[in-house]
Amino acid sequence: MKALVYNGPCDVQVKEVPDAKIEKSTDVLVRITTTNICGSDLHMYEGRTSMESGRILGHENMGEVIEVGKAVDRVKVGDMVCLPFNIGCGFCENCECGLSGFCLTANPGTAGAAYGFAGMGPYSGGQAELLRVPYADYNCLVLPDDAQEKENDYVMLSDIFPTGYHATELAGMRPGDSVVVYGAGPVGLMATMSAYLKGASRVFVVDTHKDRLKLAEKMGGIAIDDTEQGGVQQILDLTDGKGADCGCECVGYQCCDKHGKEVPNLTMNNLVQTVKATGGIGVVGVFLPQDPGAKDELAKEGKLAFDFGQLWLKGQRIATGQANVKAYNRHLSKLIQAGRAKPSAIISHELALDEAPKGYEKFDKRAAGWTKVVLKPGR
Ligand code: NAD
Ligand code: ZN
Repeated sequence: MKALVYNGPCDVQVKEVPDAKIEKSTDVLVRITTTNICGSDLHMYEGRTSMESGRILGHENMGEVIEVGKAVDRVKVGDMVCLPFNIGCGFCENCECGLSGFCLTANPGTAGAAYGFAGMGPYSGGQAELLRVPYADYNCLVLPDDAQEKENDYVMLSDIFPTGYHATELAGMRPGDSVVVYGAGPVGLMATMSAYLKGASRVFVVDTHKDRLKLAEKMGGIAIDDTEQGGVQQILDLTDGKGADCGCECVGYQCCDKHGKEVPNLTMNNLVQTVKATGGIGVVGVFLPQDPGAKDELAKEGKLAFDFGQLWLKGQRIATGQANVKAYNRHLSKLIQAGRAKPSAIISHELALDEAPKGYEKFDKRAAGWTKVVLKPGR
């Protein structure tokens, strides 16, 4: 089959590899119809992780089930399925509580398991023609009849729509709240959409990319262009000096930009300043446990300096981590089916799998107009 493999920093290639196949009786085999490039792929693409060369990337996957293992009884051949990026067993004490991002069976330890991800188990990614899905009865979201028609919406249930939603949950957002979202990348835009779906009164969306801020405005967000770093003051001015009721961090690790620039860690300090006293801050942006290539000394060890004293003084709450996609994606799928959520609105490019290396290069540079890239292995 054809697949996109990681060769080394900023080097990915589409090539022929052995077909994915059923390995355990609880697996299914999926023919991938759509698979996305995510901001999380860039941590590996930029060489910031222990990703081995030769591995297939891709954790935002959707497709058609073409074979089922002997012990699979819920999922059927022909089902269109969206696959949560976290791989869970469904029966460990974390999965039982809906914490599928921290499954104790699929990748013992605290990091959980995912497709095509450094440090998250041996599982291959889905930026390929075929994907093996473990614990398939648990890990497949079987989609309704409009799956093909709304494919570009449903595929967002694999990660970024639930992740954006998770950011608002971690922040403790309630209807009527004002929310500040740092980052208008795909995840920040999904947090913005989720906040409005949950009844936010106002969502301030901070970024420096004008095209991404325009998309945030289309969703009803109040765009805060932080190019001159005046965003904190703008948000305070718009909230009578108090700050927003809660905030979402949708940017992540920024210590070292692999394209040469030194990027300071701003978002956590900015959130402490722009969220009101006692407000919640939900951090879904990824902060890696280590980045040996970082220029910043703290960042090499995955540490982050921010104003903890102010956080304490303001009595703010912080919650972090990867999204437990399984806990949200059935609910969010109903909003797509009912036409109340259209996460595909952020897609800028639909490419054939062969064009994936170009998609990575452009998305990694945050080139103007490249917001979210979806790949179509069947084309
Ligand atoms: P992305 O990395 O392109 O988005 C980040 C956005 O932040 C960009 O638009 C960038 O211009 C903006 N930005 C950079 N510095 C900023 C600053 N100081 N202030 C405001 N904005 C700033 O792509 P993405 O897919 O949206 O990913 C965002 C983060 O979410 C990444 O760290 C990714 O790994 C993470 N992520 C986490 C989960 C999870 O389960 N927790 C899931 C998916 C993605
Ligand atoms: Zn992702």
